[in-house]
Amino acid sequence: MLFSNVPGQLEIKNRLRRMADDERIPHALLFLGSEGVGHLTTAVTFAQYIFCINKTNGEPCNTCPACQKINKLAHPDLHFVYPIASSKDVKLSLDVITEFRETFLSKPFMNQQDWFNELNAENKQPTIATEESNNIIKALSYTSYEGGYKIMVIWQPEKMNTAAANKLLKILEEPPDKTIFILVCNSAEQLLTTIISRTQLVKFGLASTDEISAFLQETKGLNAQTAEYCANLSEGNVREALHIAGEQDSNTALLEHFQVFMRTALKFNAFKINPWIDQTATMGREKQKYFLTYSLQLLRECLLLNSGGETLVRARNEELDFLKKFASFVHMGNYELIVEEFNKAYYHVERNANPKILFMDMSLKMNELLNIKKAG
Ligand SMILES: [Zn+2]
Repeated sequence: MLFSNVPGQLEIKNRLRRMADDERIPHALLFLGSEGVGHLTTAVTFAQYIFCINKTNGEPCNTCPACQKINKLAHPDLHFVYPIASSKDVKLSLDVITEFRETFLSKPFMNQQDWFNELNAENKQPTIATEESNNIIKALSYTSYEGGYKIMVIWQPEKMNTAAANKLLKILEEPPDKTIFILVCNSAEQLLTTIISRTQLVKFGLASTDEISAFLQETKGLNAQTAEYCANLSEGNVREALHIAGEQDSNTALLEHFQVFMRTALKFNAFKINPWIDQTATMGREKQKYFLTYSLQLLRECLLLNSGGETLVRARNEELDFLKKFASFVHMGNYELIVEEFNKAYYHVERNANPKILFMDMSLKMNELLNIKKAG
């Protein structure tokens, strides 16, 4: 990992480099920032920079033994605590460290949802339990393997219950020797003020559109125009930017799918709609949901186009060309009703409705709604 793998945050990176270079590292740091700014990745990179024996030009070398271990999230002096969905078999962060490594390494800008999806625990309450504090004490009570610092990264400390938070506070008040705590937090309001006051604050702002655009061009090989489009939509959230970039390809196919749907629904034709329904049915639930969300976005843009709000429209290229032609079919007389149909379909998809019946019913409804004439 390199500092340059996180877009923007130049001032913070320099501050962290200085801390390590001058060996004046506070024993507890609070990395505070909104989701997707890259504070977890920065925390890991900072640890790597501290442990690296061959750092050059303000970056870890990425090849020394320490770097190699960090790149697998398997350095013996780097510890992690994070929210888990506790169960009979899972009581501590350590019990799911393999899953945590995999998720982080494939999604360095991961959020809570990515993590819980990986655990198949979407509906569970993420918590850092009291037992975890005992584990922290234990992990830090040994001397470090490599003779240097021991670093404890606590991801989302705001998910600690009160007892856990109080125990952590005790540790922060009397920290073990040569220990660095990095608290990677999204929302400081949920942290004990006494914990905050024991840490040095490192506040992450949002990366700029230019920074994210450059990052996407470099890491994903996007052209400047597409990168800027994704960066704009992401509003400073790198995770979101990567997500949107990944969707760019599939959106072209989805646009076509939407076009066929609208065309066949407008002049309802049972022969033509059937292949479309079959195709939709085989998409699978997640893709169906995404298609419906994407369609809702297009419909909203139609309304914007009709009311002269073209500057607010996100669509571009072929999407925009299509919407300009299609927009006149969506107006105040049917917009709400159409949106309701799409939302209803989303609801039923989530609850495992039979897709063939669902989308057949929907296309009949759409035939009715799209043919409502614009008033006046
Ligand atoms: Zn190194």
